[in-house]
Amino acid sequence: MHYVSTRATSASAARNPQLFSDILLGGLAPDGGLYLPTEYPQVTGAELDAWRKLSYAELAYEILRKFATDIPDAALKALTARTYTPEVYRNARAGESAAEITPLRVLEEGERGTLVLQALSNGPTLAFKDMAMQLLGNLFEYALAKNNDELNIFGATSGDTGSAAEYAMRGKRGVRVFMLSPHKKMSAFQTAQMFSLQDPNIFNIAVEGVFDDCQDLVKAVSNDLSFKARHKIGTVNSINWARVVAQVVYYFRGYLAATTTNSQKVSFTVPSGNFGNICAGHIARMMGLPIDKLVAATNENDVLDEFFRTGVYRVRKSSETFHTSSPSMDISKASNFERFVYELVGRDADRTHDLFRKVETHGGFDLSGAPGSDGDEYQHVGKFGFQSGRSTHADRLATIRDVAAKYGIVIDTHTADGVKVAREHMQPGVPMIVLETALAAKFNETIVEALGKDADRPAGFENIEALPQRFVVMPPDVDRMKAYISEHTGL
Ligand SMILES: *Cc1c(COP(=O)(O)O)cnc(C)c1O
Repeated sequence: MHYVSTRATSASAARNPQLFSDILLGGLAPDGGLYLPTEYPQVTGAELDAWRKLSYAELAYEILRKFATDIPDAALKALTARTYTPEVYRNARAGESAAEITPLRVLEEGERGTLVLQALSNGPTLAFKDMAMQLLGNLFEYALAKNNDELNIFGATSGDTGSAAEYAMRGKRGVRVFMLSPHKKMSAFQTAQMFSLQDPNIFNIAVEGVFDDCQDLVKAVSNDLSFKARHKIGTVNSINWARVVAQVVYYFRGYLAATTTNSQKVSFTVPSGNFGNICAGHIARMMGLPIDKLVAATNENDVLDEFFRTGVYRVRKSSETFHTSSPSMDISKASNFERFVYELVGRDADRTHDLFRKVETHGGFDLSGAPGSDGDEYQHVGKFGFQSGRSTHADRLATIRDVAAKYGIVIDTHTADGVKVAREHMQPGVPMIVLETALAAKFNETIVEALGKDADRPAGFENIEALPQRFVVMPPDVDRMKAYISEHTGL
């Protein structure tokens, strides 16, 4: 299995075919594109039948070995077994089985169709990012040990990504994490989750500024290529290919758990921001998983909904980006979207390059086919099963209330966006699976607003805000940041 950049010319792609391990520790391809396999491995009906009986870890192994062909089977089997265990995904709701890893819960079965929730947020940080990040932690440790190397992960977070990365990398040999967050801007719960980690390889840096200041610092340090190389700096953002592949597994799992034969289809609704999660669903569908529709649900930051309704992709300025009550979907552009556009334009890397160059120079592109547009490929979107919808703060509150009243469970704000949009796309005979991307306890402020009471906290999180915190406060100063990294890496 080889990988190429979405912006590779045919000559450069032929010259530099990459293996899974080659792209594991990196982010963007050197040409600025994103990596994709040269072709998608196909799954047969016989394989799907056999996979119905597997545990989550065994299923993850079967799917990953199709992509990570350069990692020995025995090593991959051990890595997936260690990653997907009930001890790691122990925050399942009462009545849901932790051993299932991503248990399904039927919310509604009626004339309009079946509405199902797939819980992806039972891991250590109570959000779906654990599903991929936990695997990444084990893959990194394996790859670094093999090459006797080390890696310093440097990133910025406004919440979910940073904590998922820290809980995945804590205590891992060869890895340190330097995570920037805006000082006093995260929720008390999210702050406590990250800052209460006492592991010596985790460095929490609270930047006196906003999230954009944190991101600017990461960019400034990463643009210093010699500093970056000398200090072995890497990232774990959502464009990382291994993260995307790890997410493919739960689409298979959801399908297999919701059906009894391969002649059945299901649809998924995915609360979306950077298009990483739903991109994994697209890949599962391209591998032959019988997915009918993939519905992208956005909040008020509706870049993706706009594209799927009109064919126009228009990124927002930071001044146009709303701070919403589903904050992990507050994006101005969708960093994984290029992976889908590449497919939509027939895997034409030159054209993908031109379109995303235009994103930089003109803030977007138009594939609607209208006079003066950049192309008419929007007409092919339906072939890939994509649909979309949008949700607002008022919708979120109403949905949280409605789900609590009708089904007796409390869902988080991002999942509420998903349920709101899923209900607009249900069809009799095709179960609609909504991916639950976080647990309500993480976004308690809005739960209190909707229900007038606190969300339940899973065991072990009761007093998290009272734990001792370990972090440093720093001004947004690139040189001081570099000095801090040098001092703590010893490089
Ligand atoms: C990151 C995140 C999302 C968005 O996922 P993408 O892969 O960026 O589309 C949705 N919900 C929650 C809770 C998240 O943490």
